[in-house]
Amino acid sequence: MDTSETLLTPRRVTRQIRVGAVAVGGDAPITVQSMTTTKTADVEGTLTQIYDLAAAGADLVRCTCNEAAAAEGLAQIVPRSPVPIIADIHFHVEMALAALDAGVQGLRLNPGNLRKEQEIKLVAQEAKDRGVPIRIGVNAGSLHPGIYERFGGATPEALVESARIELAYFADVGFEDVKISVKASSVPLMVAAYRLASEAFDHPLHLGVTEAGPPPAGLVKGTAGIATLLAEGIGDTIRYSLTADPVEEARAGRQLLEALGLRERKDLDLIACPSCGRAEVDVIAVATAAQAALEGRGLPIQVAVMGCVVNGPGEARHADLGIAAGKKKGHLFIKGKIVRVVPEDQMVEALVAEAERLVAEGIEARLAAADESAEAEAAADRAELLGDRGVDANHSIERIEKIRTRLAE
Ligand code: SF4
Repeated sequence: MDTSETLLTPRRVTRQIRVGAVAVGGDAPITVQSMTTTKTADVEGTLTQIYDLAAAGADLVRCTCNEAAAAEGLAQIVPRSPVPIIADIHFHVEMALAALDAGVQGLRLNPGNLRKEQEIKLVAQEAKDRGVPIRIGVNAGSLHPGIYERFGGATPEALVESARIELAYFADVGFEDVKISVKASSVPLMVAAYRLASEAFDHPLHLGVTEAGPPPAGLVKGTAGIATLLAEGIGDTIRYSLTADPVEEARAGRQLLEALGLRERKDLDLIACPSCGRAEVDVIAVATAAQAALEGRGLPIQVAVMGCVVNGPGEARHADLGIAAGKKKGHLFIKGKIVRVVPEDQMVEALVAEAERLVAEGIEARLAAADESAEAEAAADRAELLGDRGVDANHSIERIEKIRTRLAE
């Protein structure tokens, strides 16, 4: 585990529940969720998407259960899914019961949409009998009308009250196997609601900014809300709600947790310098090509693409592997040490080959296999570039001449 975890506020202690084989809450790793966009009745299409989501980082996947055909689809999907399946229920109690019959490992109920006390208790009783947990999924946009009226709107207090009422119904039938979400599309509202919920309940919290929209704005909103709370130690499972291929949601969720040091890295972390006047290569083009070539290979390393050999290897010395441009060459480095120099047009190819070897053989072995002349060649290139003032692209010298001429008049 990355030491950055110790720099965040310690995680709030919650009860632990199990969604199938996946633990949520307590000291379990924070999990990533996403939701399928296929018709649940389309068994093969839905399973293909579930496999894609799992490969992108989803630990749990939710599917809608909105009709009899969807429930029947779930009966075939659940046994073949690589991850536990949660059924999303809105208005129909029969759909919740049918999803339980289908064998789902979790339910999500929206208290704003499934409102009858007896029906809610019936679902809780059936879930309890089968050991299936339920998420109380409160949503600011579909808050129970009575609560909306009582609080004068979808306030943080109103969202938490909705969850509290549902919890009380569950408690009446002795059901406590619960996680809670209080989502909103407004980041400040969502953050305030979750802070309040974390004080009010010790159940695991499922974080999300709902209806965040398409990327990049949707990603920014999701990250703003989820990361703020995670940094405060709040949250046990997360979902990005993007208007995009759900694989993007799963990938973003996993990447956020890895970036915060809350989950082990399982794939590439590509970093690149922002480029500047010193850049000796088109950093955006090289970084994009490197990302495309390296991503999805299951290489759990940090790789840096740097625009110049003058500062690049030093600035990215924390990266496992990197490449820095200069004098039409690529200077390959491991933990800041230059190990090989290649022609500029072979930068990406060399990076991919070294990344594979680094993961297979380890950092020490690859440092030991370094090309002996590489460090000296890079030092010479660096020295030459440092002394090279390059072309006066900003016409500064011309302008200075003008100023001097004017002042001398
Ligand atoms: S590595 Fe070089 S090109 Fe990239 S930002 Fe730093 S100084 Fe500029």
